[in-house]
Amino acid sequence: MESQIQRLIVIGAGCFGLSAALELCQDEAFASTHITIISASEIPDKNCASFDINRIVRTDYTSPLYASLAAEALEIWRHSDWGKEQRFVESGLLMLGEASTVFGTENPCSVTQ
Ligand SMILES: Cc1cc2nc3c(=O)[nH]c(=O)nc-3n(C[C@H](O)[C@H](O)[C@H](O)COP(=O)(O)OP(=O)(O)OC[C@H]3O[C@@H](n4cnc5c(N)ncnc54)[C@H](O)[C@@H]3O)c2cc1C
Repeated sequence: MESQIQRLIVIGAGCFGLSAALELCQDEAFASTHITIISASEIPDKNCASFDINRIVRTDYTSPLYASLAAEALEIWRHSDWGKEQRFVESGLLMLGEASTVFGTENPCSVTQ
């Protein structure tokens, strides 16, 4: 069903604001909605938290919703154009912890001291 909302303003053009705006633009329910992004700086904003290329994408969240969203996102980054041209590079992940911690006992990728 098409939304009755005529105008939507997304404040902030970091990864959250841009993702929200993209999702809205791709949703047929908002096909007639005028969507505007307002940001304090140019895009990309070099001072925002989501700027630069050094971020970890991981699925080991305690929240099942977060974990499944992260797994879904990883698939998109791996298998769509989004991850091309070096936008997504999997360099691996090494977790270090005590043997008594959950990482040390249950995660096969971890190394314990
Ligand atoms: C050092 C560091 C390392 C991190 N590492 C990771 C990691 O490895 N993995 C991970 O998943 N997460 C990581 N995070 C967290 C992640 O970067 C943030 O959760 C995410 O970037 C937040 O995105 P955002 O769009 O909410 O904010 P931002 O990316 O900060 O974007 C905010 C946007 O809002 C604009 N803005 C600000 N104030 C206003 C205003 N008053 N009016 C209009 N526009 C405004 C800014 O110009 C900017 O465009 C890290 C964060 C930091 C700081």
